[in-house]
Amino acid sequence: MSAMPSGHFSRLDAATFPAFEAGHVWLVGAGPGAPGLITLLGYHALGQANVIVYDALVAQGLLDMASPDAELIYAGKRGGKPSAKQADISLRLIELAQAGKRVLRLKGGDPFMFGRGGEEGVALAKAGIPFRIVPGVTAGIGGLAYAGVPVTHRDTNHAVIFLTGHDDSGGMPQGVDWPAVANAASVIVMYMAVKHLATIAGKFLAAGRDPDDRLAIVARATGPEQTVVETRLGEVGALSTQQELPTPAIVVLGPVTRYREQLDWYIGERRENAYG
Ligand code: SAH
Repeated sequence: MSAMPSGHFSRLDAATFPAFEAGHVWLVGAGPGAPGLITLLGYHALGQANVIVYDALVAQGLLDMASPDAELIYAGKRGGKPSAKQADISLRLIELAQAGKRVLRLKGGDPFMFGRGGEEGVALAKAGIPFRIVPGVTAGIGGLAYAGVPVTHRDTNHAVIFLTGHDDSGGMPQGVDWPAVANAASVIVMYMAVKHLATIAGKFLAAGRDPDDRLAIVARATGPEQTVVETRLGEVGALSTQQELPTPAIVVLGPVTRYREQLDWYIGERRENAYG
């Protein structure tokens, strides 16, 4: 069943969207969760694709917008099962395109932000498969906006760092210059950082960050179950031993978290809307 109302949307579809051609792959950002946060190009692609290869964090509400005869292929990690190997996913995309399908690769957030979209794009380019990139709202910006945290504010910061909290094997990311990262910007937005949060906080403290620096953990951002835990950098160790933090979560360190006091708008019945 298509969850999308007709009217304006059908008028948009009839207009001059770029054609989704057979044998092409569209690498599309699904946004951070709420179905309403996909782009119009992404929505268009959902209606046109023959095959949709999607990740764990893609909302069911988006898949419901797909054409009823589209084939849905799950390529994520869920319930502790090992994720499909990246090389296998890329190969699958190539084979589907070579078979003449319109292939939609739907990835959470923005495909190029810690999402391996770059790797898949390179694999397609090497195989000579024509492709298009459709950016998405990344969790580290849009997810924080739903928690009332602007990633920049003129009064607090002129730079932002985006950091991943673990590497391929699930360990601490290698090759990060921690003292440099800790001191380069007051605001640091961390993806996949819950598991090693205490260790990461320790690195920042060792590099001279103030234990009083504000930190917020925004879990399941943009969805009805969004939760926010606010603490201080020096308290993170205690926090992560005390409670199981919900995931997926974005962690934001820095003074911008204080704007939640005025900007925390995503409350109450607003969460009940299916599109966000
Ligand atoms: N490409 C994605 C990120 C993929 S990495 C993007 O641009 O958003 C997966 C990580 O993204 C998660 O571990 C978590 O840190 C973050 N994330 C994705 N969706 C989220 C959500 N709804 N709420 C909080 N964090 C989220």
